[in-house]
Amino acid sequence: MVASRHEPALCRAARPGERLSSRAGASTPATGLATPLQFVKGIGPRRAEQLARKGLETVEDALYFVPLRHEDRTTFTPLKSIQPGQLATCTGVITAIGPPPPGRSRHPMTVMLRDDTGYATASFFNARYLARVLQRGQRLIVHGKVGRFRGQIVLQHPDWEIVESGDDERLHAGRLVPVYSTTEGLNPRVLRGIMGKLVEAYTADIEEILPADVLARQRLAGLVQALRDFHFPQTEEALAAARRRLAFDDFLFLQLGFAILKSRASRTRGLSIKPRGDLVTKLRASFPYELTGAQDRVWDEIRRDMAAPYPMHRLLQGDVGSGKTIVAAMAAVTAIEAGYQAAIMAPTEILSEQHFMTFRSLLEPLGVPVTLLTSSLGARERKARRAALAAGEIPCVVGTHALVQEGVEFRKLGLAVIDEQHRFGVGQRARLKSLGEQPDMLVMTATPIPRTLALTLHGDLDVSVIDELPPGRKPVVTRARTEGRRPQIYAFLREQIQAGRQAYIVYPLVEESETLDLKAATDMARHLAADVFPEFTVGLLHGRLKFDEKDEIMRRFKDGAVQILVSTTVIEVGIDVPNASVMLVEHAERFGLSQLHQLRGRVGRGPWTSYCILLTGARLSEEAQRRIDAMVATTDGFRIAEVDLEIRGPGDFFGTRQSGLPEFRVADLLRDGVILEAARREADQIVARDANLREPDHQRLRAGLLARWRGKIGLASVG
Ligand code: ADP
Ligand code: MG
Repeated sequence: MVASRHEPALCRAARPGERLSSRAGASTPATGLATPLQFVKGIGPRRAEQLARKGLETVEDALYFVPLRHEDRTTFTPLKSIQPGQLATCTGVITAIGPPPPGRSRHPMTVMLRDDTGYATASFFNARYLARVLQRGQRLIVHGKVGRFRGQIVLQHPDWEIVESGDDERLHAGRLVPVYSTTEGLNPRVLRGIMGKLVEAYTADIEEILPADVLARQRLAGLVQALRDFHFPQTEEALAAARRRLAFDDFLFLQLGFAILKSRASRTRGLSIKPRGDLVTKLRASFPYELTGAQDRVWDEIRRDMAAPYPMHRLLQGDVGSGKTIVAAMAAVTAIEAGYQAAIMAPTEILSEQHFMTFRSLLEPLGVPVTLLTSSLGARERKARRAALAAGEIPCVVGTHALVQEGVEFRKLGLAVIDEQHRFGVGQRARLKSLGEQPDMLVMTATPIPRTLALTLHGDLDVSVIDELPPGRKPVVTRARTEGRRPQIYAFLREQIQAGRQAYIVYPLVEESETLDLKAATDMARHLAADVFPEFTVGLLHGRLKFDEKDEIMRRFKDGAVQILVSTTVIEVGIDVPNASVMLVEHAERFGLSQLHQLRGRVGRGPWTSYCILLTGARLSEEAQRRIDAMVATTDGFRIAEVDLEIRGPGDFFGTRQSGLPEFRVADLLRDGVILEAARREADQIVARDANLREPDHQRLRAGLLARWRGKIGLASVG
């Protein structure tokens, strides 16, 4: 790691045709920010390539590069006073470097440091390369945890930087110092140096994008100040203000986009679907129960939306088993009674099949035919079903994204129901909608998500929440168990089945090891049937079976002819057998938290106590342990969703890639919920006044919005 000592001062790369300042024309974005880093003087192709590995291509990327942390280097902790347990930042000169003894690579490398007060040792495991990089006499700044090793106080594997004599120490010490994640060949100092120079050279010309009244009302730092303080703040307060400002921008652009989509939808003429309601009445009469208060309320919201002459965009949110499906079925028959078609789209083949079975059982008794459309159907069959839809012969279809991918035509699509589970994006929703003329749209999510997240992912939708489970549901008793308890678990299953109940045994199945996983599930089913429960009937369900075979097995399980259903995760969603009281999950550590919650939701649907047994290996990763603990600790879907989000982080939780939404540069959903709400209010106000961002004050917002939504919002075509 060689620090480049004498980087020439950065100045603006003056390339032909480049406009260095955009002050002249208010609508031109500052070209300087778009400068590729490679052309910034002092960076060059090699550094630019290293920076590109961090995803930094332009000056703008670099200015929004989030520091991992800031270190307070206003004062260093004297070496003699470091204490175990402390997180310390120290500086000292290397007096000795001790590689681990030969053949003892498990021993740490030790580096002895000296300052005016005394000595301290820093220890590094698996870091023999340090012997090549560090030399006696060099000055280091180290930051890390203080601990003990063999009785001695040591700095444990600290982050370190070599202080180079030519460096401008004003960037690196005596202040709050940004620390960035580095990459091979690009050490912390070099990166900080580059950032310092970029901030110096490029921020001054950046123009404020927010209208003055928003800045004042929200008490936000100006953009220039925020970008400077984001990297090189004078105080913690300045840093916090910078973060808040930049996070606000992230949210504002997202919410502006949503506000525009919403306002456009509310000005669009849609279908006014308000039949007499005979089919809904019949459907409701076929339920062996009353709707819950929450179901009644959301049905009322949906019914009104459908009747109103603009397109419905509604999210129906509710925990597993809260009864969303029947509400969706009520919406479907309402559209159908009014002479329209209804389409139900689900993210996976198996979920579509499940929904198909449910809808068929609800609608066919009313004389309403339902069909299934997935890509696994034979070409001829698919063609026939598509033709029937196009001719308007079939009023209700359930399918996967095959529905939108193949450009299925409807004669008169009135309602699109999307069972989303975070898996579809804005784009796919839009495409399904486009198959009709402004059909009403109902999006269902099974994982209840915290409000901030709902606003983020579904900000263009109105939200209905079923916040009540059907009466008489008892919380499922959840236990974590390891292999040693298998005999007792089987004995428990036997007891339950002898008492008249049924059980699920679920195996994980991941794509990479699908064949092996399938074999494990198959072998297990055979073993259980032959050796463990010869007196019961054991069924096996997996994704490779043909639709009819799956249908048959599920029917037999529902009828009670099969007592134990061994399955891969195909039953994660949709299956509904109230008599089942045990959910045994094999290799529970391999499932995601929301999957586990979905699986658990398969039981606890009858009047008896139900059980979820999570069988795991003896040693779990920290994350797996957190998932299992959360399952045991709560049955509340909202709480589960929160923990899931904490563990996985928002990107993964949402599947950001699929969502197609603008990515956040700085904002953090877990931390910045309050800012999100404020940004949403401002966005709504701005759009209420100026729906196409045409006012002079909004020109830079407009440019920023178009850039961040990358063409997904076509302002130009409207504005
Ligand atoms: P979700 O789709 O929200 O997971 P479902 O619509 O599958 O929930 O409903 C779960 C189960 O609860 C089904 O067996 C359904 O028939 C039943 N159910 C739905 N609404 C009620 C209700 N109001 N009272 C009793 N049972 C209900
Ligand atoms: Mg359901």
